[in-house]
Amino acid sequence: MDYMCCGLPIAALLVTIAVLLLAKYLREAESKRQRDIAERQRQENNVRQREIDKRNREIEEQQWQAAWEFAQKTLALTCRRCQALAPPIPDTGNRYRCPSCGNQFAGARHSQ
Ligand SMILES: [Zn+2]
Repeated sequence: MDYMCCGLPIAALLVTIAVLLLAKYLREAESKRQRDIAERQRQENNVRQREIDKRNREIEEQQWQAAWEFAQKTLALTCRRCQALAPPIPDTGNRYRCPSCGNQFAGARHSQ
């Protein structure tokens, strides 16, 4: 003969409680799993984003370097002492320095 509580057999009540607890446990486990997945994806995205940023900086640096070398070559004047190409000295208006013999001289304006 079953023990009764609130008109239900105790066994049925215990099974109901067990099922509710199990369901709660499964919900929490699933929610933790989802959080872990989201966290892992966030970390992977961060790593990927850092790699993209690094690559973009490298590309930008290379472009600046290429533009700078192009400007140097385009603006360079021939050194009268040794005939090598002398690039302008930045921000000097019209000064040039020969990389071969160190000769510095004034020439055409290359910057303000
Ligand atoms: Zn020179």
